[in-house]
Amino acid sequence: AAPIGRADVPAPASLEPLALLADAGLEVPVLGGGRMRHVNLDVAASAPALQSVAEHVQRVLPYYASVHRGTGYPSQQTTALVEGARATVARHVGARDDDLVVFTRNTTDALNLFASAVPGDTVVLDIEHHANLLPWRDGGRRVVVGRSSFATTLDALDAELGRCRAALLSVTGASNVTGEVLPIADLADLAHSHGARLAVDGAQLLPHRRVDIAALGVDYLAFSGHKAYAPYGAGALVGRADWLDAAPPHLAGGGAVESVGIDDVSWKTGPDRHEAGTPNVIGIVALARALAEFERLGDEARAAHEHALTQRLHAGLVAQAGVRVIRGFDDVDDRLGIATIELDRGSIGLLAAALGAEHGISVRAGRFCAHPLFDRLATRSNGLRASLGAGTSVDDIDRFLTALAALIADGP
Ligand code: PLP
Repeated sequence: AAPIGRADVPAPASLEPLALLADAGLEVPVLGGGRMRHVNLDVAASAPALQSVAEHVQRVLPYYASVHRGTGYPSQQTTALVEGARATVARHVGARDDDLVVFTRNTTDALNLFASAVPGDTVVLDIEHHANLLPWRDGGRRVVVGRSSFATTLDALDAELGRCRAALLSVTGASNVTGEVLPIADLADLAHSHGARLAVDGAQLLPHRRVDIAALGVDYLAFSGHKAYAPYGAGALVGRADWLDAAPPHLAGGGAVESVGIDDVSWKTGPDRHEAGTPNVIGIVALARALAEFERLGDEARAAHEHALTQRLHAGLVAQAGVRVIRGFDDVDDRLGIATIELDRGSIGLLAAALGAEHGISVRAGRFCAHPLFDRLATRSNGLRASLGAGTSVDDIDRFLTALAALIADGP
């Protein structure tokens, strides 16, 4: 079938430099026998590893050894890899000289750690992923319901910050449901004008756009390696040292202490305070390698590639009868390669399953761990999210749009 409604959206000029994922060419079984090239439009959930990340992990894997404590050569090399990774993360996100980089398991872990460090109330928006909604202490959490425009939402945040004199405003850099990129510098200015700090959940934003925290005025940033083209198990919290040094240690155990008596303990400050236990060396090394690779590819090339595909995806979905694209703010045009749709009729769960089983296309159905936002914006109980990234091609988008049209035409 001919592609739908997107003849006016040109294909990006060159995609080759970005076809760099370890899963390139993966074929998956489909119903009725046979295999098809996998189309991964579930990148917002977890992005496949970059090929260079996979190769780097292969090189490190045979030689890792006890980090920070061992005297042997492999141990010293492993320690250097982890501390080098910390420096790479700091450089990549534009950390200030005295910011801490604390390695965590993922964004959820980083925000839970951080929640116990905030010396006062936290204001959040209802558009957040649950990871940036649930960790904040119930008594001191104030949720501002997003309005139809970002400008009026900013006014509502202004009023709430003025009312409650919160210590922190914590927002997502980009919505995992709509893909909308929030004007972070405006949010930083607002928080600071009330004497509060700004934390950004960078889980979606950082893998697709360069986030320079010093330039933007961000005080804390959390993100996950597995959404940034590295394998699972490592993430980071980057930000100002004072609150983190005064917070209770995230985990109690070896490596986080200066000294321990039977009944007393003296905790370290710095990243060690929150990193007790043996770290996920491979995950940390992979995460830093992915960030370094982003730098090599160039921010512009990455953004241009994804922007063209995002336009193509949205144009195709808007033109598709029986589909409604979910949109949050009517004055935010900058978006990542994420589109969430609902159907006028029929089961979105069955549609998503058929895309996988019959067409080899991975998407996600549900409410995307952002129930308050989804329930406010959607008219149905579930949506279908297609999300793209550096490894996505024009053909991937077109195969998805064509399969979607065929499945909708066939009916429930
Ligand atoms: N924040 C946002 C915006 C997300 O999209 C996600 C994951 O989907 C998270 C936080 C949680 O990330 P993780 O599961 O890696 O902790």
